[in-house]
Amino acid sequence: MAAGGVHQLCRDKNTVMKRILIVEDEAAIREMVIFALTRAGFEVDEAADAAEAQTRVFERLPDLVLLDWMLPDSSGIDLARRFKRDKAAHEMPIIMVTARGEEDDNIRGLEAGADDYVTKPFSPRELVARIRAVLRRISPLEDEGLEVNGLHLDQASHRITSHGKPVDLGPTEFRLLQFFMTHPERVYSRNQLIDRVWGGTAYIEERTVDVHVRRLRKALESHQHDRLIQTVRGAGYRFSPQM
Ligand code: CA
Repeated sequence: MAAGGVHQLCRDKNTVMKRILIVEDEAAIREMVIFALTRAGFEVDEAADAAEAQTRVFERLPDLVLLDWMLPDSSGIDLARRFKRDKAAHEMPIIMVTARGEEDDNIRGLEAGADDYVTKPFSPRELVARIRAVLRRISPLEDEGLEVNGLHLDQASHRITSHGKPVDLGPTEFRLLQFFMTHPERVYSRNQLIDRVWGGTAYIEERTVDVHVRRLRKALESHQHDRLIQTVRGAGYRFSPQM
């Protein structure tokens, strides 16, 4: 069964609706997602397999792809890699949809260039929150700052303040903090941080990550924010406002 067609509830002339492509072979899940995303104000396009997904993407680039891991004609991760290698599609954000208990898949998905993942079964609310977080991360509004417990990072001006007082950071520490603040509540290994903060092509030793994390903590310490960056033994680092 072909899964073509664009779903949308309404279109406000003044706002550009974000277009999400859902790639999923199970019609019931696809319909649930389409319903939830349409209600949340997204325009939704659908594809039931990898071939159809490619056609849709190259017809018109969506703002984000929700990509199921298990597809009948290709694995979702292979398709993600293909998109990430493609000149036109490589910047298109991808959220992988994986099965419960396949933690390895989640990590492989991120390594293949996916921006995030959701695990089945997911609630519509969780899905919408993840999509919004990724879209915000990709194109933060010019004047939109990030704020956690009084620590404020302004992405447009690269200024950081704590309860209004300036916090002085080097460029690497700034990028590290920006990454942490846009990816809270998740543990990142040193290698993942190298990939995401320094970029995949940089040759950086794991110890270098520790050095920059230490510097960042030191800069945050005098403002009592150093505990936001937590060491997770044997795993890496986590940014969390909770202890
Ligand atoms: Ca599937």
